[in-house]
Amino acid sequence: MRIVRTIRELQASIREARAAGAASVGMVPTMGALHEGHLSLVRAARAENDCVVLSIFVNPTQFDESADLAAYPRQEAQDAALAEQGGAQLIFAPSVAEMYPSGYATTVHVESPLTTLFEGARRGSAHFDGVATVVAKLLLAALPERAYFGQKDAQQLRVVQRMVADLGIPTRIVGCPTSRDEDGLARSSRNVRLSADQRQRALAIPRALVAVQEAVAEGETDAALLRSIALAALAGSSSPEVGVGIDPEYIAIVDPDGFEPLDTLTGEALCAIAARVGDVRLIDNVLLHLPKPTKGS
Ligand code: AMP
Repeated sequence: MRIVRTIRELQASIREARAAGAASVGMVPTMGALHEGHLSLVRAARAENDCVVLSIFVNPTQFDESADLAAYPRQEAQDAALAEQGGAQLIFAPSVAEMYPSGYATTVHVESPLTTLFEGARRGSAHFDGVATVVAKLLLAALPERAYFGQKDAQQLRVVQRMVADLGIPTRIVGCPTSRDEDGLARSSRNVRLSADQRQRALAIPRALVAVQEAVAEGETDAALLRSIALAALAGSSSPEVGVGIDPEYIAIVDPDGFEPLDTLTGEALCAIAARVGDVRLIDNVLLHLPKPTKGS
């Protein structure tokens, strides 16, 4: 396991790995504070590539709140050990000055509605510009055959897929399923900030998503009704002692590619929820599949 901090060192290390026989490189971009969700991406990368590069960079340009940036957990030594266990051979952990050197003036901007609604609306237009720019820079620096992103951040995944297709970056973007704790909560670096009580309340998010998924599986196609099902689950109408204290920010029923809001489901869709539990903001989503028409119907 090697940790490199400059783009030159990263490129030299990848050249060495290729010269030593690595036929393919898989990259896993992260902001560190690694957990099992990140490791599921590393394992997926390891299964498909000879060399796995994990990047750790808390990208300042994608944070809309400086307090959130300052509070973001940083634990490089622990991350390096976990990444190695997961099967990564190389860690790229650049400084802010390495990624945005003095005089830096270029931004990659992906057009709306993919970037202006939901996470884009909440976090400001600079958020996805920051994501698209840093991912473009990471991919152009490493030129991996494949790069791995979580479906947990579904809108980000779509923005990255759009950007890579539009710029012709020769990397295949692989979306990986959301990794969840046994109680159903999507794994996130922010979960450590939840008290035991808040964590219990946060479980209303996956419960709401499952309720929507079940309603769709039974044939419900009205997005407004589906949103009200999710809202009721978040409000904890069926178990008030657990549900109180969640502050939903949005419940989106969208087309999973362009993130355009749907009134009626006609094919595959996605339900995404953002909610605050105390001062911790959580996001999660599930894909929605309409029942297959039965013979004769
Ligand atoms: P982050 O470090 O939060 O920027 O996340 C780095 C990558 O890990 C992103 O592609 C995320 O979507 C992915 N990721 C984060 N949490 C999970 C999870 N619970 N399951 C799957 N992927 C995840």
